Amino acid sequence: MRLDSTLSIDITKAATTKINEVDFDALTFGSVFTDHMLVCDYKNGAWQKPEIKPYAPFLMDPSSRVFHYGQAIFEGMKAFKDESDSVWLFRPDENCRRFNKSAERLAMAQIDEAIFLQGLTKLIDIDREWVKKGLGNALYIRPFMIATGTGVMAAPSSEYRFMIILSPVKSYYSGEVKVTIAEHFSRAANGGIGAAKAAGNYAGQFYPTALANKEGFQQVIWTDDATHTKLEEAGTMNVFFRIKDTLLTAPTSDRILDGITRKSLIDLAQKSGIKVEIRPVLVSELVESSKNGDLKEIFGAGTAAVVSPISGFQYQEHYYELPKVADSYALNLKEQLNQIQYNLAEDTFGWRVKV
Ligand SMILES: *Cc1c(COP(=O)(O)O)cnc(C)c1O
Repeated sequence: MRLDSTLSIDITKAATTKINEVDFDALTFGSVFTDHMLVCDYKNGAWQKPEIKPYAPFLMDPSSRVFHYGQAIFEGMKAFKDESDSVWLFRPDENCRRFNKSAERLAMAQIDEAIFLQGLTKLIDIDREWVKKGLGNALYIRPFMIATGTGVMAAPSSEYRFMIILSPVKSYYSGEVKVTIAEHFSRAANGGIGAAKAAGNYAGQFYPTALANKEGFQQVIWTDDATHTKLEEAGTMNVFFRIKDTLLTAPTSDRILDGITRKSLIDLAQKSGIKVEIRPVLVSELVESSKNGDLKEIFGAGTAAVVSPISGFQYQEHYYELPKVADSYALNLKEQLNQIQYNLAEDTFGWRVKV
C-alpha cells in the first residue's frame, strides 16, 4: 500500500514548537500531544477541505449532538521510527476500514479513505521529530469523529468533525495484571455496539473496572452477556489463553472487537508453528485447566501494549495464580511483532507502511 498525497490540505504551521518542553523519558501514556492536529468537517452531505493546524482547544455549541446522544468513535494506532529515521505505520488501512465500520454502526458519516490515510501521513510527516527512535518509543495516533450537528432532537447528526491528534509514548508497562472474570456486568451485548470502537463502550466499562480495582484487580475479563460462561475480552484488549501448547482466542462477534493486534498475533503464532484455535473459550475450561496445571498463560492483545501478560484470575471468590513460564508465547509474539513494527525484521506479511 502507498500513501501518496493527492489530497489537498490547508496547512497552518505552529509558530513555535513545544517539543523542547517535553521530557521524553518520563511520558505518561496519552497525556502529551504534538504541535499539530488534523481537523475535517462534514456538512451538507460532504467532507470539507481538511486542515492541519496548531494543536488547540476549539469551541462547540452546547447542543452538539455528541454531548447528548454519544455519537463518538475513535481509533488507536502507532507510528514507529527505525534506526535510519524512517517512520512506519502498522496496517493503517485496517484502522481506516474499522473506523468506517464503527461509523456505520453509530449512524455517522463515512470518512473518505484519502482524508484518513493521507491526512494522517501528512500530519505525522509535519510532526515527525516527535517520533523517537528506540524499541518501545512510538507516536500514538488518535483519529476520532464526533457529531457536531446542533439540536437535542434524538436523531443522528447531519454534521460531523473528524480529527487526528498525536501523542508521543514510551513502551507500555502495565505492571502485574490480576484480573477478575465478569459474573454480572457486561461490556457488550448481542446486537449491541461492542464490535464498534465507540466512546460509549469505554464509559460503560469504567464503573465495573473501578469496582474490580477496589478489590485489587487491575482489569475485568468480560464474558458473554447472556450466560457469562464464555471468555471474550480483557479490559479494552482482546484476550488469548495458552492451554498446554495451544493458543486459544474467541472468534470476533457483535460483542468482540476485531483487533488488529489480535489478528496479527494469530498470523505470527501460526507462522511460528504454534497451534491456534479460534473458538469460544469457556470459563469452566479455564478453571479446570488452571487446576490441573495445563493453563500456562493468559494475555491481553492491543495496540497500546501489544501484549499484556496476566498473572492470575479471580472467579467465584477463588483466585487462580498462573505459573511462571520460561518460553512465554506472549513475550515471543510481542518481540516478533515489535521487530516488524520497528523495521528490524523482514515484513513477510506486508504490514509496514512508510510515512
Ligand atoms: C481497540 C480495542 C482492542 C484492540 O484492537 P487493536 O486493533 O489491536 O488495537 C480490543 N478490544 C477493544 C474493546 C478495543 O476497543
